[in-house]
Amino acid sequence: MTKKEMICIVCPIGCHLEVEKDEKNSLGFKVTGNQCKRGQEYAVEEITNPKRILTSTVKIKNAHLSRLPVRTNKPVPKDKIFECMTEINKVEVTAPIKIGDIVIKNILGTGVDVLASRDME
Ligand code: SF4
Repeated sequence: MTKKEMICIVCPIGCHLEVEKDEKNSLGFKVTGNQCKRGQEYAVEEITNPKRILTSTVKIKNAHLSRLPVRTNKPVPKDKIFECMTEINKVEVTAPIKIGDIVIKNILGTGVDVLASRDME
């Protein structure tokens, strides 16, 4: 693996990170450019098991709009995003809905919930 560059998204500072394989390191990677340990953890996870917060909408009945914005409460593995979208697309909720209401609990057994992103009467 050659050096991979990325921007740490853990906090607003946005450090520019460089990651390369390093067999001598207990993590298996050497990370530079990080100002704190969280950046190192982020970089290794981004290389080995990348995840993303997923935002979408679901159908809603009895509301003034036809779609309710939703988002995951934690990042989901990138390779599960397509399957998660398929699950989200099957859902229909009924108003009233409050921001933070759980729309799908533990989606695909990932331990991640899909929550409403806004109130809808
Ligand atoms: S490495 Fe640390 S300081 Fe830099 S952006 Fe990531 S979390 Fe923030």
